[in-house]
Amino acid sequence: MALDRFGRNIHYLRISLTDRCNLRCVYCMPEDIQFRPRAELMQDDELLYLLRLFTELGFDKFRLTGGEPTVRANVVELVRGMAHTPGVRSLSMTTNALLLRQLAAPLAAAGLQRVNVSIDTLNPARFKRLTRWGALPDVLDGIAAAEAAGLLPIKLNAVVVRGYNEDDVAPLAALTREHPWQMRFIEMMPFGGVAEFQQSQVVTAQQMRDRIEAALGPLAPVDGGKLDGEARLYRLAGGQGDVGFISSVTEPFCASCTRARLTADGKLRMCLLREYEVDLLTPLRAGATLDELKGLITEAVHRKPWGHGLAHNVVPMNRVMSEIGG
Ligand code: SAM
Ligand code: SF4
Repeated sequence: MALDRFGRNIHYLRISLTDRCNLRCVYCMPEDIQFRPRAELMQDDELLYLLRLFTELGFDKFRLTGGEPTVRANVVELVRGMAHTPGVRSLSMTTNALLLRQLAAPLAAAGLQRVNVSIDTLNPARFKRLTRWGALPDVLDGIAAAEAAGLLPIKLNAVVVRGYNEDDVAPLAALTREHPWQMRFIEMMPFGGVAEFQQSQVVTAQQMRDRIEAALGPLAPVDGGKLDGEARLYRLAGGQGDVGFISSVTEPFCASCTRARLTADGKLRMCLLREYEVDLLTPLRAGATLDELKGLITEAVHRKPWGHGLAHNVVPMNRVMSEIGG
């Protein structure tokens, strides 16, 4: 078991498979972003080696993210290797779903268990404006393919941005009347060069909730309003699925955080919104022993920051979201 100095059991690792993406969402990255040279990113064998170390230290829950994880070359075989690593109890992916029409079934067969799909609006023009490059029908096809492949339960994520999609929260929430999906609304967080835009255009979870209730009626708390992972869940009258709010900015859930992140260039980042990272890939390539690498991970876990500093205007500047993986 990997305990931090506050007694939290850190057992959930989000792994960024690549910093590259086939979209350029306005809340995530600048359009002219420069990606890292591929040689700086973890290769398949390096990733599988590190994964094994994490499982030996008690990590059992893994989420693949990015950038866009599905654009990584050989992603199906990589997922197969991960799914067959002893100690991997949960393996899921966060994706924009553009490539799921082709990849959902092979990924499920390789051992992927679930997907979270990002979809910020049901309006094709607004979708294009938010993602800069995307086409909404591809996402809807991807969700259908994920459902058909049994990547369940389907969870959908929407980042809400003032002036872009705050009118879309009610139509998105209404999806849960017809489908057994979890529709989660995320408060936009600030990172690096995009921080000023992100901070000025935040819509709070309370504002989202008010809009949904005004349009669709009351949201009843699920499980007494307890946190489900990072989301607080509610249900519309007669709904089949749940509506969730991830209020990292206005109501942080740091006290119950059990996660760490491995960036595509092999840095272990202990808090999404803090710059502190420990390099694992460079020592691995330099021939560090298994025990030395485990020592680096244990020390990083121990030093996991208590929480983020947004309330004091401390914004991480060393990376944008797509490099860390959400
Ligand atoms: N490309 C995949 C996708 O979009 O689902 C995975 C990577 S993306 C960085 C992971 C999650 O982070 C997505 O749900 C995305 O909406 C969310 N995200 C991106 N930028 C964000 C920001 N500034 N604040 C909050 N969430 C953000
Ligand atoms: Fe790409 Fe996901 Fe970032 Fe959008 S949120 S630019 S899909 S990594």
